[in-house]
Amino acid sequence: MTENPLDWRDEDVRGFGMAVGGPARVLRPTTAEQVADAFAAVRRAGGNLALRGAGCSYGDAATNRDGYVLDLSRMNRLLEFDPATGVAVVEPGVTVRDLWRRSIGHGFWPNVVSGTMAVSMGGAAAMNIHGKNAYRVGTFGEHVPWFELLTAGGELLRCSRETQPELFHAALAGFGMLGCITKLAVATKRVHSGRLRVWGIVARDLDHNLELIESLRGQADYLVSWLDLHGSGVALGRGLLHRADQLAPGEDPEGPCRFEAGLQDVPPNLFGLVPKGWLWPGMWAAVHAQQVLLVNWLKFQAGYREAKHSPYLQTHGAFHFLLDYVPRWQWMTKPGGLIQFQPFVPVGSTSRVLRTLIERCQATGFVPYLGVLKRHRPDPFLMTHGLDGFSLAMDFAVSRHPRRRAELWRLCQELADVVLDAGGRFYYAKDAVLLASSFQRVHGGAAVDRFRALKARWDPERLLQTDLSRRLGV
Ligand SMILES: Cc1cc2nc3c(=O)[nH]c(=O)nc-3n(C[C@H](O)[C@H](O)[C@H](O)COP(=O)(O)OP(=O)(O)OC[C@H]3O[C@@H](n4cnc5c(N)ncnc54)[C@H](O)[C@@H]3O)c2cc1C
Repeated sequence: MTENPLDWRDEDVRGFGMAVGGPARVLRPTTAEQVADAFAAVRRAGGNLALRGAGCSYGDAATNRDGYVLDLSRMNRLLEFDPATGVAVVEPGVTVRDLWRRSIGHGFWPNVVSGTMAVSMGGAAAMNIHGKNAYRVGTFGEHVPWFELLTAGGELLRCSRETQPELFHAALAGFGMLGCITKLAVATKRVHSGRLRVWGIVARDLDHNLELIESLRGQADYLVSWLDLHGSGVALGRGLLHRADQLAPGEDPEGPCRFEAGLQDVPPNLFGLVPKGWLWPGMWAAVHAQQVLLVNWLKFQAGYREAKHSPYLQTHGAFHFLLDYVPRWQWMTKPGGLIQFQPFVPVGSTSRVLRTLIERCQATGFVPYLGVLKRHRPDPFLMTHGLDGFSLAMDFAVSRHPRRRAELWRLCQELADVVLDAGGRFYYAKDAVLLASSFQRVHGGAAVDRFRALKARWDPERLLQTDLSRRLGV
């Protein structure tokens, strides 16, 4: 034990969507030794403990009601960056933003980034996050050469594809169940410009959207489609697809100037004037005055204008981190908060399944205010969400009335059955509703047995728990 007593604080710990979570005792360690001390202290107290990075998981993946939480955001030293290879060695609390701010000046950009740059490297690894290029470069774990894992028993293990390969492939995407990642290597990729060439492409309906993605995925570096989930009939699944390509050496004469980190960051003010922190109340009004239908219609129409002016050049930061443009945007769903439901559907049944889900939402009056369509590919991680197919992230505002809230949970569980019947999967960073019975169906009995065996081997007392893991019966 270190000499200083551990400074646990009582806090309300919630998911990013604010709809789930609760009181917990929180510690913010700064070293791996303090993590080991915390493990020992919680074990002695007979408690259980959740690992938490930046708290960007929408649901209960990093919450632990009435238990202990280790918030790793202060273990945030970027230890090494090799400007020849682009490989960084980082502590788990280093964020996507910290990483690209270090790498971009050397002409490197992370291989996989999420829609917000606030995500930590530990959280990205534990959830095996994907980007808008998942169909092309796979998931985050595919770009992690090795990591150090502190097990619940206090053993520090180096894991890679060669050393502890089983643990390596299970802890990546293992949602913090097998130990704490205390250090990891992350490979970034060479870029020749600070900008991307971007196209906005209007998609008439769901099938058009899917066809466009299928036809472009052999050439495009990034593809992501926004869907207006209020569109019905012939307009069901309409939206705006964004394609972005990296530029070849010399293609953008101004490209290297854009390597300056300050030019990649999202600006603090809108039009240089309005502090962006003031935007969420306007969005709150749109959500609560049932104006989302109108806002989505306007956004869809604006897509035609964007398509006409495409392609255009945009910085990596502006393309990837659109959601960071509006700080605290999730507050627009207060007081009930939001949940995201992100099914992954195999390629052969995507059109039928997504159509069914959207129609079911519309029929029940729970229309997601946001829909985002992406293409994926399989990966080698045990608990992965990756498959040869598409995902549709659907954001639902949650009512503060218990009856409406329960109805939404039931609807999502029904939708999950449609997805699971088609051999689909789910992504625990975005989940708040799945039942324990679904866990087995997502991964299959053999994979679940292997994961449970690893948990029993490396955490026999089940020290590491979250609200998610208890819900799924892990
Ligand atoms: C606006 C927004 C956009 C997003 N866009 C995307 C996207 O495009 N693609 C995508 O894949 N995801 C996306 N996400 C989800 C996000 O990438 C994941 O939830 C990610 O895991 C969050 O990282 P975090 O650091 O916040 O981890 P947390 O949410 O705090 O924790 C996530 C999991 O990691 C575990 N964990 C955390 N640190 C460690 C550690 N050091 N060792 C072991 N386990 C650990 C936790 O126990 C938990 O199970 C988005 C989230 C938001 C809020």
